[in-house]
Amino acid sequence: MVRESSELILRWDSGAVFGFDAGALCLELLTTGGVAAHPGTEALHTPADLAGWLAESRLRLAGARVAAVDVPATHRLRAALWAAATAVTTGRPVPEAAVATINEAAATTPPTPVLAAGRRTWAEATTAGQALSAIARDAVELFGGPYAARIRECAAANCLLVFVDLSRPGQRRWCSMERCGNRAKQRTRHGRS
Ligand SMILES: [Zn+2]
Repeated sequence: MVRESSELILRWDSGAVFGFDAGALCLELLTTGGVAAHPGTEALHTPADLAGWLAESRLRLAGARVAAVDVPATHRLRAALWAAATAVTTGRPVPEAAVATINEAAATTPPTPVLAAGRRTWAEATTAGQALSAIARDAVELFGGPYAARIRECAAANCLLVFVDLSRPGQRRWCSMERCGNRAKQRTRHGRS
């Protein structure tokens, strides 16, 4: 998938709403939960939750066919992506089990893109399995490509958002300037005064 900037609107239980550019489709899935350190932050409980998220993600896949079994399959792929992201951000190789899960999901035929009225859409009746394939293929490109070294966790201590830094200088530290970046700046300013 083309690396392009695209903001996902995150609505936290705390009431916080902010735009977050994960830099990659596969990393956007990590915003839906599955963090061992933060149990209870699951956003994908039902097929409708998953269908809604696929439409909001940078895939912009509206009206996907989602069955009940697709929800646990998504959780499995997400767990593998968490394992992969945690490994590369701590300088370790991606665990074999995560590699196997990602490759298995990528083996499904991905969604068929359709050009309609000057915009990219997707063929009708695209299934969640195909969407997971697109996410897994994105992960293969990301973790197996030059930007793997640019995958980072937000530098704020209490923030677990993971992104790939696509900026030319490669110095992105925060999930979003509006959120963690400004907080850190304020702390620095207060520290000086
Ligand atoms: Zn952050």
